[in-house]
Amino acid sequence: MTETTTPHQALAGKKALIVGVANEASIAYGCAKAFKDLGADVCLTYQNDKAKPFVEPIALELGAEIFAPLDVTQADQMDALFETITQRWGKIDLLVHSIAFAPKADLQNGLLMSSAEGFAKAMDISCHSFLRLARRAVPLMSDGGCMFAMSYHGANKVVPNYNLMGPVKAALEAACRYLAYELGPKKIRVHAISPGPIQTRAASGLKEFDVLLAHSVSTAPIGEPVDVMDVGLTCAYLASPYARHLTGSTVYVDGGINIMA
Ligand code: NAD
Repeated sequence: MTETTTPHQALAGKKALIVGVANEASIAYGCAKAFKDLGADVCLTYQNDKAKPFVEPIALELGAEIFAPLDVTQADQMDALFETITQRWGKIDLLVHSIAFAPKADLQNGLLMSSAEGFAKAMDISCHSFLRLARRAVPLMSDGGCMFAMSYHGANKVVPNYNLMGPVKAALEAACRYLAYELGPKKIRVHAISPGPIQTRAASGLKEFDVLLAHSVSTAPIGEPVDVMDVGLTCAYLASPYARHLTGSTVYVDGGINIMA
């Protein structure tokens, strides 16, 4: 940290790739806005042509220097994205993986009944794609960096209706720890972030999400809903030099609900 660095420019000059903006309700939007507000340049992606009209205005609002398609199941799109980043920026400092998917039938019918295909797809998009992004980002993080993946409390405790996403998020959190170990010598830090329930498009795929949200507000020590800027600003702090010796942890942004019985 230089002597002149202030909290308001803590991410000045940093280049951030943020994957997972669908609209302004997205957790990834909170990350992109917080990073931008603290001085970073952002690259945003959109999943497909259907998503593009919703993400494009956000890319304009945040002055995204790179705006590109990325379906993480398409290796050629991921390669093309990193080729563009290499040419435009020549480096990445921050990577945010804020995506998840499970086929509805597999998600909503209990873990016992989840199909091998559905489970594998959920694991691929929600967990292994983080490793594929990280692998491509590491050569561009020659000055160190910071990576984030969005998890949820259902990784560690049984949350009714979270079903197969519980084991998938558990794998994601473990992946963050192992990546933190492998990448620590390169001064690349890795965090799982565990937000409390937030009303987003992905959340609407869970059965009785409104009950979960209401319960978390009534039970959490800080009895207020978490919002996407709470998550974004936490990531911004972790990305900043103020957190340079923090890595590998799961950071809860949930008003404290994870400490409750
Ligand atoms: P969201 O719907 O705004 O974002 C999910 C994103 O995943 C979308 O942008 C979608 O395009 C993307 N996505 C899905 N499949 C993809 C693919 N094949 N390729 C590229 N992108 C793909 O919802 P959100 O709640 O902001 O979700 C972001 C992350 O936060 C997820 O990992 C989710 O599990 C996690 N999370 C959400 C909550 C919550 O309550 N909303 C709580 C804890 C963790």
